Amino acid sequence: MSTQIPYATLILRWYDHHQRILPWRAKTGTIPDPYHVLLSEIMLQQTQVATVIPYFNKFIENFPTLNDLAEASLEKVMAMWTGLGYYSRARNLHRCAQEVVKIGGIIPSNFKELKDLPGIGDYTAAAILSIGYNQPFVAVDGNVERVTSRLFAIEDSLPKVKPQLAALAKTLNEGQEAQDRPGDFAQALFDIGATICKPKNPLCLICPLSSVCKAHQQNIAELLPKREKKTAKPTKYGISLLIKNDQENILLRKRPEKGVLAGTMELPSSFWAEQSISLEQAMQETGCFGQYQEAGEIKHVFTHFTLKVRLYILTKKLQFIEQKQENIWVDLEDLDLYPCSTLMKKMIKQAINETSNDERRKIS
Ligand code: SF4
Repeated sequence: MSTQIPYATLILRWYDHHQRILPWRAKTGTIPDPYHVLLSEIMLQQTQVATVIPYFNKFIENFPTLNDLAEASLEKVMAMWTGLGYYSRARNLHRCAQEVVKIGGIIPSNFKELKDLPGIGDYTAAAILSIGYNQPFVAVDGNVERVTSRLFAIEDSLPKVKPQLAALAKTLNEGQEAQDRPGDFAQALFDIGATICKPKNPLCLICPLSSVCKAHQQNIAELLPKREKKTAKPTKYGISLLIKNDQENILLRKRPEKGVLAGTMELPSSFWAEQSISLEQAMQETGCFGQYQEAGEIKHVFTHFTLKVRLYILTKKLQFIEQKQENIWVDLEDLDLYPCSTLMKKMIKQAINETSNDERRKIS
């Protein structure tokens, strides 16, 4: 009679030889600073590891401790987060650091207290406890869901099957080895999901779990996990205005504290509406009037909708009325000091290029 080797044993044996070297990780068998775990896990929500690495390093360089992060201004934190997207994470991270300082400066080591902190959900709490405090929690993210659905050949579709996958994933660390090394086990699962059991072309032939994986045995690995068909994303339309003064500075404003790209700096812009709007309407909404020049269109895909923004440059006969938001004139050289989203930087670049082309056209 054959006895199946526990999943955890297979997973940890593989990890001991193939783990990824990442700046927030400690050496095998040692426990990393929980602050590093918290910071990296919040950055990794919805973002690839390769994108996160330089941001993590920059944050640790500027805010070596959680206390430093809590004492920094929100503007500085937001500016450093620029380009990483999902900006509510930066605000929550900053609030989270301040809350932790208020309760004594130590990141909590129990699930409930962690979940009470801003920006920390089930997954992040489990990751902090397993990696940062070596407690036997299984953190279930998209990678772990995929590995689990394949290991057990679960053919029901996401998102309905999420609770079943989470319950099954939590059985993977049954076994003494995983209980002895919860942090390594959690990271081992992440690494297998990210580097072996990939969404497309899973590398079953070199996978430590191939001998026990039902999807591999049934040759259906790449079909899992199944997903319910997504409804088409709606499109929204807007107009943004690049306004330059005589010193060639551009006008920026802060977006509202709630909603998409909350708290980031933007070009004066109309609301994003279901229907396309006229330039006159945009001028009325922003309170910015002037002589305009068209500067093309930018398309940007958000998680829940596609945005199409028409750009205009206002340079002459500027007039501002009923300013609801505070205006800041910014030298383009200093743009990186402000929390501008990737979308806004893309717009500014396109509008500036358009101005330069226009200047060139005038000269030639
Ligand atoms: S054998 Fe293939 S499908 Fe199964 S866990 Fe490994 S990589 Fe994924």
